[in-house]
Amino acid sequence: VARNPGEAEFHQAVREVFESLEPVIKKNPGYLEDKILERICEPERQIIFRVPWVDDRGTVQVNRGFRVEFNSALGPYKGGLRFHPSVYLGIIKFLGFEQIFKNSLTGLPIGGGKGGSDFNPHGRSDAEVMRFCQSFMTELYRHLGEYTDVPAGDIGVGGREIGYMFGQYKRITNRYESGVLTGKGLDWGGSLVRTEATGYGVVAFTQEMLKTRGDAFDGKRVTVSGSGNVAIYAIEKVQQLGGKVVACSDSSGYVVDEAGIDVGLLKQVKEVERGRIADYASRRDSAELGRTGSIWDVAVDVALPCATQNELNGEHAATLIRNGVKAVVEGANMPTTPEGIHAFQEAGVLFAPGKAANAGGVATSGLEMQQNAMRDSWTFEYTEERLTSIMRNIHDMCAATAEEYGAPGDYVVGANITGFIKVANAMQAFGLV
Ligand code: NDP
Repeated sequence: VARNPGEAEFHQAVREVFESLEPVIKKNPGYLEDKILERICEPERQIIFRVPWVDDRGTVQVNRGFRVEFNSALGPYKGGLRFHPSVYLGIIKFLGFEQIFKNSLTGLPIGGGKGGSDFNPHGRSDAEVMRFCQSFMTELYRHLGEYTDVPAGDIGVGGREIGYMFGQYKRITNRYESGVLTGKGLDWGGSLVRTEATGYGVVAFTQEMLKTRGDAFDGKRVTVSGSGNVAIYAIEKVQQLGGKVVACSDSSGYVVDEAGIDVGLLKQVKEVERGRIADYASRRDSAELGRTGSIWDVAVDVALPCATQNELNGEHAATLIRNGVKAVVEGANMPTTPEGIHAFQEAGVLFAPGKAANAGGVATSGLEMQQNAMRDSWTFEYTEERLTSIMRNIHDMCAATAEEYGAPGDYVVGANITGFIKVANAMQAFGLV
């Protein structure tokens, strides 16, 4: 804490991982002697840079850009870019730290990193977003490469932004280096299923958890918070499996739709028109905007927080438990506060952390890199099969590790330990680097 003042989210993420590691350290004191814990929470490299650009009125704007290259023990740094006004070093470090273990869990050869900017894309024209992305990449490009660092999207960064950044990278370097960014468009090196991957993966993971209790999505009431990339495709997959999503949200509020969210309309409002959740409510008779409280007041069997960090606290958890929630699975990164996690675990609710449950996004990014390296593109069905099998594998490894370390059913412990051991062993093998 003293070494990294003011980085509350980073402290929270490190504490959560380290609390799980006690039995591992006991079993293998070599990790302590080699100072693996001290080394793993110190990024290999942190880049902070100025991003000047001109808005549509001709006014000069200045934002701050970040790329934290956290750990490359398992492969090139890999992790998304976030454009949101709340971005500062502590957010990027928490996300980068989580990414190390998540990427390890996928079983693919990718290290951990994260980046972004405090730029707010809401309300900006396409031309403004393009100029911002070009300026951002004009500095970032020198730190990237398919064997070095491979960014992707995150909050505020989707196909449009990746396109502008890839175009600028290609122009500056004079290289068509497909493997330098993932989340690309299907016409220029992108992978089928990448858009759907995180949301679909969260639902596949949840399905495996429900199975352990002889249960399934069919007939379940579900809340999915957010209405961005992760949320939309989580909603779509839940509905394909026979569940009914009755509530979703954005940063301006939440909507309850007892007929089940119309995912086609939601995509139109959010992906095409870039509108607000209120626009969805105003166009659907069965939908009502939440007037009081929060989205977590809606009684459901399954809750999938898919918006942002610390959106579900201890009080929200108590309400969900009182209303009979059976499973809570994180689609976002660290959406549940430590008090919330504790409450779910105490109450015997199935709970899975984002670093395991939302790993489908980065896993499919890894599959995009494989296709780029092979100059190939796979079918939707084959790619989804690979994704589902990776999610099942992550689920089974987390469950087995939790059992092995005396915490059966504790997916937090299972994910943290499984993700850590592989990275720690690679770091030891490399010596002091
Ligand atoms: P998007 O930008 O597509 O969507 C984010 C959604 O969350 C929007 O509905 C947004 O509302 C809402 N939101 C964002 N910030 C806040 C806030 N402070 N309060 C309330 N609502 C908020 O992002 P993604 O769907 O890509 O990402 C969502 C989460 O999933 C993040 O935690 C991200 O790190 C994580 N994740 C994403 C992956 C991916 O592949 N995209 C992979 C793994 C994890 P509004 O539009 O009003 O801002």
